[in-house]
Amino acid sequence: MSFRREAYVPKGGPDGGDGGRGGDVVVEADPQLSSLIDYRYKHHFRAERGTHGQGARRHGRDGADLVLRVPVGTVVRELDPVTQTPAYDIADLTQPGERVIVAPGGAGGRGNIHFVTSVRRAPAFAEKGEPAREHWIELEMKLMADAALVGMPSVGKSSIIARISAARPKIADYPFTTLVPNLGVARAASGQSFVVADVPGLIEGASEGRGLGYQFLRHIERTALILHVVDVTGGYEGRDAAQDYRTINSELAAYASELAARPQIVVANKCDLPGCEEACRSLRELAERDGHAFFAVSAATGAGLDELVSACAAEVARLRAEGVTGDPTLDLTERWERERQRRDRQIHVSREERHAWRVTGSAVERMVIQTDWDNDEAVAYLQHRFERCGVDDALARAGAVGGDEVRILELAFTYEGAPGAAADEGAEEELELLEAVDDGEGEL
Ligand code: GDP
Ligand code: MG
Repeated sequence: MSFRREAYVPKGGPDGGDGGRGGDVVVEADPQLSSLIDYRYKHHFRAERGTHGQGARRHGRDGADLVLRVPVGTVVRELDPVTQTPAYDIADLTQPGERVIVAPGGAGGRGNIHFVTSVRRAPAFAEKGEPAREHWIELEMKLMADAALVGMPSVGKSSIIARISAARPKIADYPFTTLVPNLGVARAASGQSFVVADVPGLIEGASEGRGLGYQFLRHIERTALILHVVDVTGGYEGRDAAQDYRTINSELAAYASELAARPQIVVANKCDLPGCEEACRSLRELAERDGHAFFAVSAATGAGLDELVSACAAEVARLRAEGVTGDPTLDLTERWERERQRRDRQIHVSREERHAWRVTGSAVERMVIQTDWDNDEAVAYLQHRFERCGVDDALARAGAVGGDEVRILELAFTYEGAPGAAADEGAEEELELLEAVDDGEGEL
């Protein structure tokens, strides 16, 4: 709040500038990053606050945004503040540089020049800045591969990715050696290249959350092409290749029916070993009946891998051209923003005592925080805002009667009665500040 003061000018008008707005907290996809390790131990981030407005209509400076960099392929979710479980998807950052504001900075308080009306020529109050918004968010990095190798444990997925790319995963005879999905870039003779992921072995029940497989099924969600590897020798447990093939497909379908419908190339591996011709032939039949391309290879000798890589590269190029890896982010962010605003405006009234009501809601609470309680004019302005935003109506609907106490944050007011209804005896003419319910400060 400020009034113009100049030599020889007896009574200057109001000239208090606005406070600067607080910075936004932004999450941005950065192609240089490959993990979320930076967020493992540090969990609290805040953008800079704005500075105060000043006299002579000088506005405060805006606070700087805080940009949190995450790998491309990060999904951002809002967490429920109470249960800490995911509540809403905020964004799916699939493109380098793509960003989303997860906590918008609060607007600066308006200087007293804004509160001039025909009857209030010299408003002696200003608004306090909007309090910062706080959110808990969850970051999940999902793989961004063009093709994912899936199959039962020990069918040779790691051996294949090691052969067709520079990735060097652990190769072993026991299940789940691959705990972290490996990414490799494969290049076809044509020069086309694509990113392939080695996903740890899927086992029966993975889609129901059993075993480690489930975590990795989530990664497959965003790969356009599935390379389904089958061990035609039946593996050490003497499994049946055709049965394995069906098991994996039904796990994919159980996780998401859309996954089973995704383009798939069936890869029969370990064809260097003798006695698997029959299994190989019937697997080819099965695959082709399902409309999938089929390749017989050996990760041990390298046989058939060039042909497989060429076919994958062509298929990936086709899927990319079709825009299969489309970008639903914009939509998502807009939807979240609308939802956030809707929740923000919600007013909730609950009865705490027979004649005492608690009003909660982000927007209403912000109004209270932004009010300078030492200033009668500012308080009167708040009453006006309450009426306009529906607090009075909400109280009337809940059954409040004139004279009841209304609590918002640590403050208490007297309810003046339903708008238009005859005021009860003893009810104040206007919403009136009573006292602090929480005796913390005493002053109010
Ligand atoms: P993953 O669990 O699917 O990743 O399978 P790995 O790549 O770790 O391979 C499991 C075992 O099968 C290892 O002992 C590999 O050496 C072996 N293996 C993989 N591919 C072939 C192949 O084409 N021929 C033969 N004979 N053995 C293979
Ligand atoms: Mg492996």
